[in-house]
Amino acid sequence: MAVHTIVIDANYQVLVKSGNKPTVFHDSSLTQAVDAQLLHRLHLGAPGGDLTVVQLDADLSSALPGFELASLRSLLVPLEESAFQWLGRGIQLCRWQTEHRFCGKCGSPTEPSATDEALVCPSCELSFYPKISPCVIGLIENGDHCLLARGARHPEAMFSTIAGFIEAGENAEQAFAREVQEEVGVVVEDITYLYSQPWPFPGQLMLGFTANFAGGDISVDGEEILEAHWYRYDQLPLIPPDSTISGRIIRDFVRRKQFATP
Ligand SMILES: [Zn+2]
Repeated sequence: MAVHTIVIDANYQVLVKSGNKPTVFHDSSLTQAVDAQLLHRLHLGAPGGDLTVVQLDADLSSALPGFELASLRSLLVPLEESAFQWLGRGIQLCRWQTEHRFCGKCGSPTEPSATDEALVCPSCELSFYPKISPCVIGLIENGDHCLLARGARHPEAMFSTIAGFIEAGENAEQAFAREVQEEVGVVVEDITYLYSQPWPFPGQLMLGFTANFAGGDISVDGEEILEAHWYRYDQLPLIPPDSTISGRIIRDFVRRKQFATP
C-alpha cells in the first residue's frame, strides 16, 4: 500500500514538487532528512493508500532543493478536486489541533479522543471537533438573466454569486435570503439547494443554491460588494473557475438556458 505525505510549514504553506503539474503527495521518507521540529503528524484516512499530513517548523523550501512552498489557495485550480480536498482536510486538521490545545471552558490541555476525531478535555470532558463553518452561496435567476456581484476581495473584474456565513439559529435558506437582501438589496423566492463544496479558507462548507428574483432594485454597500448587475446567460462577464462552487453554479445555469433555447 502506498504511503504518501502532505508536508506543510508552520504558516500552513504547502510543500510542492516543482514541475509542469504541481505534486503535493510526497514519499513519506522525504522529510526524514529535514532537521525540524515536528508540529503535527496526522493520518488522513485516504482510501487506496495511507495518507498523512506532516507539519514542520522549518524553512522547507531551502531544506529541500527542487521543492517550493505554495499557498493552499494557489493550488485550487491546478490540483485535481480530490487531491485538493485531501490537502484541505490535512491543513484544517493541523489548524484544529493547533487552535484547540486547551479547553475553552476550563483551560486544561486537551487530549485526542480514543474513539472520535475529537480533542477531549480530561478535566471537564468537553469535546472539540474540527471546526467547520457552514456558509450559503447561490445564484439569483430572473428568466434568462442572473445577478452577479463583484466583491471587494475578488480579483479585478471577476463577478460571482452571493455568499455568506449562516448565523446561529438560521436555516440555510433563511441565511441565503438574508445575505442576498444585505449584499445586493433584492428579495428572492423558490430557494433550491443544489450541492456543496468544502472550502478550507480556513474551514467553510459552502452550501450551493439557486433562487428566483422576487422583487427589489439592486443596491450594494460599496465596501463588501463593489457592484452587481443582471447578466444574460450568453453575455456573462469574467466568472470564477469551475473548481469553485460559484463557477459550477453559474455554468449549470448557462447550460440549462442553452438547453432550453430552441
Ligand atoms: Zn475542560
